[in-house]
Amino acid sequence: MAAERERLYLFDTTLRDGAQTNGVDFTLTDKFAIIRMLDELGIDYVEGGYPGANPTDTELFSEPRMLNATFTAFGMVRRPGRSTSNDPGLAALLDAKAEAICFVAKSWDYHVRVALETTPEENLASIRDSVKAAKDKGREVLLDCEHFFDGYKANPSYALACAKTAHEAGASWVVLCDTNGGTLPHEVEAIVREVVKHVPGDHLGIHAHNDTEQAVANSFAAVRAGVRQIQGTLNGLGERCGNANLVSIIPTLKLKPEYADKFEIGVSDEKMKNLLRVSHDLDERLNRWPNRHAPYVGDSAFATKAGIHASAIVKEPKTYEHVEPEAVGNHRRLLVSDQAGRSNVLAELERIGLKVDKNDRRVARLLDEVKEREAVGYAYETAGASFELLARRMLGTVPKFFDVSYFDVKVEQRGQNGHGSEVLTTAVVKVKIGDDTLISAAEGNGPVNALDVALRKDLGKYQKFIEGLKLTDYRVRILNSGTEAVTRVLIESEDETGEHWTTVGVSPNIIDASFQALMDSIVYKLVKAGAPA
Ligand SMILES: [Zn+2]
Repeated sequence: MAAERERLYLFDTTLRDGAQTNGVDFTLTDKFAIIRMLDELGIDYVEGGYPGANPTDTELFSEPRMLNATFTAFGMVRRPGRSTSNDPGLAALLDAKAEAICFVAKSWDYHVRVALETTPEENLASIRDSVKAAKDKGREVLLDCEHFFDGYKANPSYALACAKTAHEAGASWVVLCDTNGGTLPHEVEAIVREVVKHVPGDHLGIHAHNDTEQAVANSFAAVRAGVRQIQGTLNGLGERCGNANLVSIIPTLKLKPEYADKFEIGVSDEKMKNLLRVSHDLDERLNRWPNRHAPYVGDSAFATKAGIHASAIVKEPKTYEHVEPEAVGNHRRLLVSDQAGRSNVLAELERIGLKVDKNDRRVARLLDEVKEREAVGYAYETAGASFELLARRMLGTVPKFFDVSYFDVKVEQRGQNGHGSEVLTTAVVKVKIGDDTLISAAEGNGPVNALDVALRKDLGKYQKFIEGLKLTDYRVRILNSGTEAVTRVLIESEDETGEHWTTVGVSPNIIDASFQALMDSIVYKLVKAGAPA
């Protein structure tokens, strides 16, 4: 009989610590969307930000948020030498419409003296008074002990005094922060084992930064030593090298028996299947290309290249995968590449839903075609939609929708070079659909954009199928194949259903390469939408 599992709590700080990431700037709309996403996932505490620090965060805390999660405001304990009733920062925090307040306080005596310019005793008083003031206002209180591990190494009794003071004043969680991110897992584990002798583990949290690439490992080290709250961010966002990545922590907690047998978290098995979507939605909001090598949710997390492994994987996937990809919403990918064998191609065809006999001669032809094209620069591992079209064409299942019989792109500069000059781009496209010829012209902010706009301006009877099509990313790479340089263009598209796909074009000419990738994207969309021939 399984013993009762202990509850472990997850605290997300994407909107506060994650917002410190270089180049990340959340709008109010972004914040609302991310809060909803975290709440649906089953995160216990969602930290919204720092009320009073900027207009966005103040606005966010002006209304109560109806969430399953505990909506949390972040801010500093009262300033030294002030009373709790005479500190505008603390007042803004106490006024915030949040169910919990997470205070940050110094716990390294060196910082207390040098940065706060106050005495260790006054810092303890400030922790005690602030926790009590928030408790009096009916808030749940958390206290982040800043630089806890460095502070502990320098002066263990003072770091512990900070933690104990917060706990005794009524904080439900005392969070041990590795603010510099330089502490190693064995140190975290040893220090937490000492701390739990003074503050019970079910009132302790860990807040790890990733400066030695071990924020996730440090979080688990702390859990092993007794803490029962983990703070982190989606995709490990955070300043410098980031914070502990909840997207890696959640599946490890739920799928690895060492943790799954002992602990329970608020994220259900069903909700965890949305993890990949959650991770990619955040990237999209930030206009970032998802990290394909991300554990669990990356495109490559369950991808295998070598032909000999591929046939074994199809027979017995468990031997090559540490967890089931579907548990986090991912799937197995067998890469079609030059080293790939027939079994790779067959597995990929099966995944797309194309039924072909394994001895069908078209499979061998497809494999040859893929190899030939990859040798000149096509990247079918990335451009899954172009691979699918290639395969469908080989099997004769792509209708002839339309032909582009002519296109012309013109780029001209008007006026003097430099100030006041203008570069204009226009494209003209002639499309044949059955017996009809349609001609469209468009201006764009560059040749590829103009071509794209012109091509999608009038596709006659197919127009309605591509209305929701959007290009979301465009990447160009110059490759040296043999003696000549060629250009590879990858285009990522998305449609009204939220599906994403990537297409590829290769040519010595960038416009031609872009045109191929654009055409593949449109044709892929028509195939998906079941447009008639
Ligand atoms: Zn932090």
